[in-house]
Amino acid sequence: MKITFLGTSHGVPEVDRKCTSILIEAGECRYIVDMGTHTAEALTTKGIAVDSINAIFITHFHGDHTNGLVSYLDLCSWYYKKADPQIFLPGNIDGPIKAIDLWIRCNGNSLRDFRFNGVEGGLLFDDGTVKVLAYPTKHTNNSYAYLIEAEGKRVLYTGDLSNTPEDDFPKQFLEFSLDLVIGESAHFEATKYLDILKDAKEINSLCITHYSPRFFPSVEELEKAKVPYKVFRAYDGLEIIL
Ligand SMILES: [Zn+2]
Repeated sequence: MKITFLGTSHGVPEVDRKCTSILIEAGECRYIVDMGTHTAEALTTKGIAVDSINAIFITHFHGDHTNGLVSYLDLCSWYYKKADPQIFLPGNIDGPIKAIDLWIRCNGNSLRDFRFNGVEGGLLFDDGTVKVLAYPTKHTNNSYAYLIEAEGKRVLYTGDLSNTPEDDFPKQFLEFSLDLVIGESAHFEATKYLDILKDAKEINSLCITHYSPRFFPSVEELEKAKVPYKVFRAYDGLEIIL
């Protein structure tokens, strides 16, 4: 499984970081988790066909995770007509579908018929290559963390959490051996992960993404901590092969 961080910023773009988007490649398949504004452009820059995405998983509806979905579906409605991703949206999906269609209609086009799905906790997706389990978090009324399994590897992506992650982190997934935890630090000190992860069964690596400048010192502190897993921060363009 290959993970590419297309965007790692924290809600607003930084000089060298764009908003959140992660590309996952397994076998011949490609998946995206969250879509910051630039996602379609980032795929093109990487030489990845925009219409080759098998599924899209949105963690929650804040714009830094979703605005790129609008431009992606716009492009796929009038240009990349072979694109046929399954699209997983938290909450009631009718509103967002109507809103995106209205936006595209301003330009004289309309939203094509895509395979939209809602998100509920539990097993969300299994295409034989990648399996995704969803877990509701308290960041918003409809926000989710995702456990992603492919090629014998297991990755936990927290999405955004509340500012009390000790009450919010999907601890049930810590009963599994995890090859990688991708955690945010825009709403709390990254060092809070030390306590949250201390009883984990087995973690290979912890990657901090979506960190804000005000919590950056805590990311550096976490990187220096003595823990039984590797800690590092994400940056735009980072590729991890598991
Ligand atoms: Zn958010």
